[in-house]
Amino acid sequence: MRYLSTRGGEPVIAAEAIVRGISPSGGLYVPESYPTIDWNNGVRGGYLATAHRVMQAYLPETDSTDLSRMIAAAYGSFDHADVTPVVKLTEREHVLELWHGPTMAFKDVALQILPHLMRSSLRQTGETKQVYILVATSGDTGKAALEGFRDVEGTRVLVFYPHGGVSEAQRLQMVTQEGENVDVCAVYGNFDDAQTGVKQIFANAEIAQQIDEKGWRLSSANSINFGRLLPQIVYYFTSYQTLVARGEIQPGEKVNFCVPTGNFGDILAGEYARRMGLPVHKLICASNRNNVLTDFFESGVYDENRPFYQSMSCSIDILISSNLERLLFELANRDDALVREWMQGLKEKGMYALPQRALDELKQTFSAGWCTEEDTLETIKRVFDETGYLMDPHTAVAQCVYERYAEKTGDTTRTVLLSTANPYKFASDVLGAFEQAGEDDFVNADRLNALTNAPIPRGMSELLGKPERHHDVCTLEDMPNRVLGPILNGK
Ligand SMILES: *Cc1c(COP(=O)(O)O)cnc(C)c1O
Repeated sequence: MRYLSTRGGEPVIAAEAIVRGISPSGGLYVPESYPTIDWNNGVRGGYLATAHRVMQAYLPETDSTDLSRMIAAAYGSFDHADVTPVVKLTEREHVLELWHGPTMAFKDVALQILPHLMRSSLRQTGETKQVYILVATSGDTGKAALEGFRDVEGTRVLVFYPHGGVSEAQRLQMVTQEGENVDVCAVYGNFDDAQTGVKQIFANAEIAQQIDEKGWRLSSANSINFGRLLPQIVYYFTSYQTLVARGEIQPGEKVNFCVPTGNFGDILAGEYARRMGLPVHKLICASNRNNVLTDFFESGVYDENRPFYQSMSCSIDILISSNLERLLFELANRDDALVREWMQGLKEKGMYALPQRALDELKQTFSAGWCTEEDTLETIKRVFDETGYLMDPHTAVAQCVYERYAEKTGDTTRTVLLSTANPYKFASDVLGAFEQAGEDDFVNADRLNALTNAPIPRGMSELLGKPERHHDVCTLEDMPNRVLGPILNGK
């Protein structure tokens, strides 16, 4: 199995794609083909066995026993035996809970195993340099990467997060992070600014050389890394298997997946599962007011020239959806010149347009919608009142968008809603759906608990009173220095 860059260049093996994160041409790595998998196989072994089947198909050079060991180590840290359990909400709707890992959001599914994949890939490529992992986060990736790479030999991590752009629990999770090889810095700017800043650092040959001379190389733990995408394919299969095992669907029956979407990594994993043979009817892309993707799926025009809104579903406050490039590559029939043209348009004019043929193809599988802040709060309250299930704001965005989709289309297909965060990660906003919330996140969490009986996860209570260790804030212009500083000072 080779990996191609969406913007052209030499194909590489999986290990090389994972170590690099992004291709030298600035493109993202995609597999040369999509291995098909009989979705019914592995049902008896549960999550770990399915993970092994899916991941081995993409990592043929990785030793099978090693892979089993990595998978077991990664998902042993989850607090649910199913790893990503499915909860029945209504006859038609099922919630796939992706937040049972250590940081209470879906990023753990990928970032608990990525350090293992990274180390195995370094061995396979014979890399002797240490790896310096740069992360731009809209809130959840940062903590999951810090936790995943903490004290992993031969690595160090630096996380940039938007100053004032994450929830209090998200901020505390990051700034209280312990470990010798971890570093956190807030940036004056929004997530797109931080992500662009990191991408520019990757593209900067001078920085690469300075880092190289000190015995390091840069890599990424953002979802542009194929090693992030791969583990996310697994839960599309396991949730399907669960619905079959429970008799909710017949084997082979198609289902919808509705996904709160930011950088397009989570929903893209669903598209990969579909290409691998999973019976998928529609992938529904749910956004908040930052609805650039909704417009794109409607019109075929991607236009990021619009205001950026901060919302309570802050992990999907994104206008530049990086992983969309992997889907574009397929829509372009893998013509990397065409992808380069579109990406050039995005860079220069902030927009590009698909030809009609590609748009038609897109609409066969994808549907999209968005909702407001008021919709989000209304959905959290109504779903709780009707079913007793408490959703976080991201999951509520998916729920609201799904309801409108079902109403508009009359589609009665069974639907899996991807729940990407535990509600307590956004306790103040979620409480606001029920009553006026106070200032203090922890008081609000207790109040939410009293009101709804939803259990407070351990990760949340552990944050209380933990010392803040990382206090830095920098400007966008200063990001390169912030990256180089610790390396040049030999820290
Ligand atoms: C990252 C994140 C998302 C968006 O996932 P993408 O892969 O970026 O589309 C949604 N919800 C939560 C809680 C997240 O942390």
